[in-house]
Amino acid sequence: MATERIVHVFWHEGMLQHDAGHGVFDSGMDPGFLDVLDKHPENGDRLKNMVSILKRGPIAPHLLWHTGRPALLPELLTFHSPEYVDELIKADSEGGKMICAGTFLNPGSWEAALLAAGTSLSAMKHVLDGQGKIAYALVRPPGHHAQPAQADGYCFLNNAGLAVNLALTSGCSKVAVIDIDVHYGNGTAQGFYDSDSVLTISLHMNHGSWGPSHPQNGSVDELGEGKGFGFNLNIPLPNGTGDRGYEYAMDELVVPAVHKFNPDLIVMVIGQDSSAFDPNGRQCLTMEGYMGVGRTIRKLADDHCNGRLLIVQEGGYHLTYSAYCLHATLEGVLNLPHPLLPDPIAYYPEDEAFAIKVIDSIKKFQTSSVHFLEDN
Ligand SMILES: [Zn+2]
Repeated sequence: MATERIVHVFWHEGMLQHDAGHGVFDSGMDPGFLDVLDKHPENGDRLKNMVSILKRGPIAPHLLWHTGRPALLPELLTFHSPEYVDELIKADSEGGKMICAGTFLNPGSWEAALLAAGTSLSAMKHVLDGQGKIAYALVRPPGHHAQPAQADGYCFLNNAGLAVNLALTSGCSKVAVIDIDVHYGNGTAQGFYDSDSVLTISLHMNHGSWGPSHPQNGSVDELGEGKGFGFNLNIPLPNGTGDRGYEYAMDELVVPAVHKFNPDLIVMVIGQDSSAFDPNGRQCLTMEGYMGVGRTIRKLADDHCNGRLLIVQEGGYHLTYSAYCLHATLEGVLNLPHPLLPDPIAYYPEDEAFAIKVIDSIKKFQTSSVHFLEDN
């Protein structure tokens, strides 16, 4: 069972054409006070380093590379509304615009977004067709904030959500999505909010709603609705949760929920913005923590899904550490016995005491509110 030692990586360099510009961090604006403006945090350099570490790092012999493709418009409608897709096409044809705060659709962005969506669909199809057990869609722009009819948080099209719908129409009856990006996977949650076929679990910092494009607040009581009630599990974690806190959250909350849900396929949504050095998050994971999460989710895929696992890339904005944490995550997914790559910069002290109290209280709440989590 646990012998699969290959990850199929799906990538297309056309995704580098999306350029969200420069400004004061992600604002896109230059008030004139600074000599050096930041590149938008969601820039192509992030992915260049991810590609290069996977090609030149010690994990390279375990990876097989495949070229992605653009999504077709009818494919987008499996998750997004036609009016919303038309709005994006119109924005592109008019030369681009800021769709919502921090989210810039510039010339080249729409083609990149279509490539991210299509590449994620290709990776999922590879798994569904039995050509590989584990596939990784190395994509940008990211997708997990994109709701059926709303762009948000650097995201236009929900790459993971589109892939989940492909799985559901290809014979899977239950899919679990585990999102470890530091932000709430609100778009994916919204897309499946009334479904009991898709269990969405998101571990994120407790950032709440951040404006009109992100009305969801990611709190524990956003559990889904209708027959989907109980099938959206939010795990808002305190700043500084760290490796041991994440391990505890996985063991106490994620693993039992996935065991009880018993999916046919798992989608692991990864963001390295949960790392100790990310400009967009304060969760303090190190490479060791990412490796542990990867190993745990791999075991869930082996236990329930005959090893079938799709990994979809989201955020992660520190140019060096995001690449290293990605390497570590995939080492964990491959279930390698010893780390291949030492951590060059893990030097924050950890104190998980507060995180553990929070996780215990979330567990108490979820097991008393969610029918399928009750002990039977
Ligand atoms: Zn994020």
